[in-house]
Amino acid sequence: MSTPVESAPCASCGGAGYLVEQVLGKTARARRCECQARCTRCGGSGFALVPSPSGPVAQACACRHLDERLTLFNQIGIPAAIAKASFETFKVWSPEHSAAKGIAEDFARKFRRDEATKGFLFYGRPGGGKTHLLASTLRWLALEKGVGSRYVEFMLLLSDMKDGFGAGRSHMEILRPLLSVPVLAIDELGKERGTPWEQSMLDELISRRFNSGLATLFATNYFLELRGQPEDPGRRVDPRSREFKAEAEAMTLAQRVGDRIYSRLSEMCTFAKLDPGMDVRKDVHGAGAGGFWRR
Ligand SMILES: [Zn+2]
Ligand SMILES: [Zn+2]
Repeated sequence: MSTPVESAPCASCGGAGYLVEQVLGKTARARRCECQARCTRCGGSGFALVPSPSGPVAQACACRHLDERLTLFNQIGIPAAIAKASFETFKVWSPEHSAAKGIAEDFARKFRRDEATKGFLFYGRPGGGKTHLLASTLRWLALEKGVGSRYVEFMLLLSDMKDGFGAGRSHMEILRPLLSVPVLAIDELGKERGTPWEQSMLDELISRRFNSGLATLFATNYFLELRGQPEDPGRRVDPRSREFKAEAEAMTLAQRVGDRIYSRLSEMCTFAKLDPGMDVRKDVHGAGAGGFWRR
């Protein structure tokens, strides 16, 4: 979206026509910039005269899309903490980052509503920018392409469903909007405890979307390959201990979500690793001589 050619780019929005704000405790909000309060091309009527061989003809002005797209952005549910996340603000500091960004941008550009589009799944330890790229993809789709989406953290979705039961709402009432939205991003996949009920909710959500030809994107802190020493069978570890947490983190994604869901994910998505990089390896349990950088 751009300002009319006759004016210099706006100092507040740089010509984008909108501003994205971080509202603490809420999700990211986009609003029309003051420079767009009254469109200089159409005077706010929504129609502009454009030249044609037979003289000027009235056409829908581009500004009509703006409010529609801002509404789509505001429906995504991007956490306020990453309100400003975009492809432009994503920092590329390794070939892995550049490849992951390429996959996300490619998805956004090629996405078509009338065709099934393969999604992507980013895995790696926290801090690599996975959530940033999910949010950037959804932002771009809404603001540049007018495509609606939702962002959910899987654990929060599960707790919404549990709260819903208490209020007499079925899980379908909460899942329904997520079953039909053109693009869904599920963050923190595998962080839940993996109970049969949790797995069946995840299975229902992604299988229905897959069967409807809808794209789903994922981010997970779990790797595809084992990263730590396998546990000694029969050894008891206090579930509150750091050791227990580290062992849970060393589990693979397939172990966390179950083989059935894992195989569905591999059909639906391109997998790519997006990890913070070498600088954090010394802080991570089990990353010593046996290191998990070999793939
Ligand atoms: Zn502006
Ligand atoms: Zn206009």
